[in-house]
Amino acid sequence: MLYIVPTPIGNLQDITLRALEVLKTADAVLCEDTRRTQILLSHFGLSKPTYRYNENDDRSVARCLEALKSGKTCALVSDCGTPCISDPGWKLVKAAVAEGIKVSSLPGPSAVACALAGAGITGGAFTFLGFLPRKPGKAAKLIAAAYALQHPVVLYESPYRVVKMLQLIADTLGNETPVILARELSKVYEEWLRGTAQQLAETLGKKQKVQGEFVMIIDRPAAAEREEEHAQDAYF
Ligand code: SAM
Repeated sequence: MLYIVPTPIGNLQDITLRALEVLKTADAVLCEDTRRTQILLSHFGLSKPTYRYNENDDRSVARCLEALKSGKTCALVSDCGTPCISDPGWKLVKAAVAEGIKVSSLPGPSAVACALAGAGITGGAFTFLGFLPRKPGKAAKLIAAAYALQHPVVLYESPYRVVKMLQLIADTLGNETPVILARELSKVYEEWLRGTAQQLAETLGKKQKVQGEFVMIIDRPAAAEREEEHAQDAYF
């Protein structure tokens, strides 16, 4: 049996009771980084064999699959949030499903859901792109195609590239494109920055060093948002 177990994205109190129970009872914990996971386990007083799961290494996927096939109950975790969401895991889940192994996905922390809920934007639909390709041309094409669907677009970005990405958004979709930045969610310095892509690029560009983890939401302009809200109302 394979359990997919979300872990906190910053605040350790965000682990669920069920996640702790599964980590406690599983035969093994499959993780991105065994040291990080050991720190998490020992924080909660758990001692468990941990095995590194490396998605880019077929032998590692095969080893984990063998453990599952031999009847072991494994908990799959990543360094933070929900495994398989811009994190390793999907190859093992796919292989387990193909082998008829039972897979259970626990609900829990994920930066994308946390940011969207706090953004205060309308509508149920959104496009999640995760991390964009490094090449600006490719990234711009993806952003433009996703935004053309007329839903907010959600991105993950590192602090080192956030200003460049804001500038790319301004260049691709227009300076006035509204953006919401959710920084350091669930942590002491949680912060929400709202403005146009150009404004935020300037504000953050003035900082000596941009720090922390970011979710970027490219919102719809206010007028388009109203129209989309009415279109959704028509369904009910
Ligand atoms: N699997 C994770 C999830 O479910 O959200 C995502 C892992 S991905 C490797 C890491 C990225 O998630 C970061 O670069 C950042 O964009 C986002 N992220 C993770 N923790 C965050 C936090 N506390 N605040 C804002 N963004 C966060």
